[in-house]
Amino acid sequence: MIIIDGKKTSEEIQNEIAKEVEAIKASGGKVPHLAAILVGNDGGSETYVASKVKTCEKIGFGSSLFRYPDTITEAELLIKIDELNNDPVVDGFIIQLPLPKHISDQKVIERIAPKKDVDGFHPSNVGRMALNMPTYISATPYGILQLLERYKIETSGKHCVVIGRSNIVGSPMSILMARNAYPGNCTVTLTHSKTKNLQELCLQADIIIAALGKAEFLTADMVKQGAVVIDVGITRIKSDKTKSGWKLLGDVKFDEVAPKCAFITPVPGGVGPMTIASLLMNTLKASKGAVYK
Ligand code: NAP
Repeated sequence: MIIIDGKKTSEEIQNEIAKEVEAIKASGGKVPHLAAILVGNDGGSETYVASKVKTCEKIGFGSSLFRYPDTITEAELLIKIDELNNDPVVDGFIIQLPLPKHISDQKVIERIAPKKDVDGFHPSNVGRMALNMPTYISATPYGILQLLERYKIETSGKHCVVIGRSNIVGSPMSILMARNAYPGNCTVTLTHSKTKNLQELCLQADIIIAALGKAEFLTADMVKQGAVVIDVGITRIKSDKTKSGWKLLGDVKFDEVAPKCAFITPVPGGVGPMTIASLLMNTLKASKGAVYK
């Protein structure tokens, strides 16, 4: 059994990008630049955005952070988006979600120029993904593809069961794993809360991607010997054994499932750390004009 190390893989990718940025700088090229918009004072969102900006600095990207109070109107936010769409310094930008209730997430996402949508949420980029065209794949699915690729996990002809059909994880994952590509070429079963025979389906799976958000849901009696298990779930529970008083659990009962697996991602340290690597890869692609030529 091999435990897939997302932290190490993410660091490797960041080092590779940092080297590429050095080469771009040495040849006088344009340094990739990521901008982020943060609305309001949500503690979690602030931490995520701060860590994204810090990582940009670490690997040599330019970065800018635009902060607004949660009283900003939708119209004002859309004006800022237009400004970033037209700013030649900014290669890509992200808007930290969720937004305050009076602002439509969808309207905001659709206002981002697809070529600068490095979060990969714009309908154009989701459509391009479904059509197997060059695109920005959103952070979590892209991170999972990287893990499969870098651990050289065979996917062609395999049966992949995805648990969960959200727009940000399960649904794109099912499309990506079915694409005629590597990773891909799987026979995919997309499951959700109305699926009746989940255990039976999981027992047939060569690859299980668990993204339902229910702590330790996937147990050993649902997994066949030699399966690959990717655990996307993150549930924070109280714990008197950690300094912070909290601990993170995945959707997989790791201790009993891991011995049956060929490969498995842990929580924390599996899929989670890959999201920043994905964002940086997308920003590099944007600065090279690799998606929209
Ligand atoms: P979500 O929007 O809540 O979607 C959950 C999906 O799971 C839904 O499609 C739901 O079915 C399905 N589901 C719920 N209970 C089920 C059950 N008993 N059996 C089968 N399917 C079931 O969740 P999400 O945003 O995709 O996130 C999923 C988990 O991944 C969460 O723990 C989240 O924190 C985590 N996450 C982690 C990362 C990371 O970087 N590691 C990134 C994103 C999300 P219905 O559609 O029928 O309701």
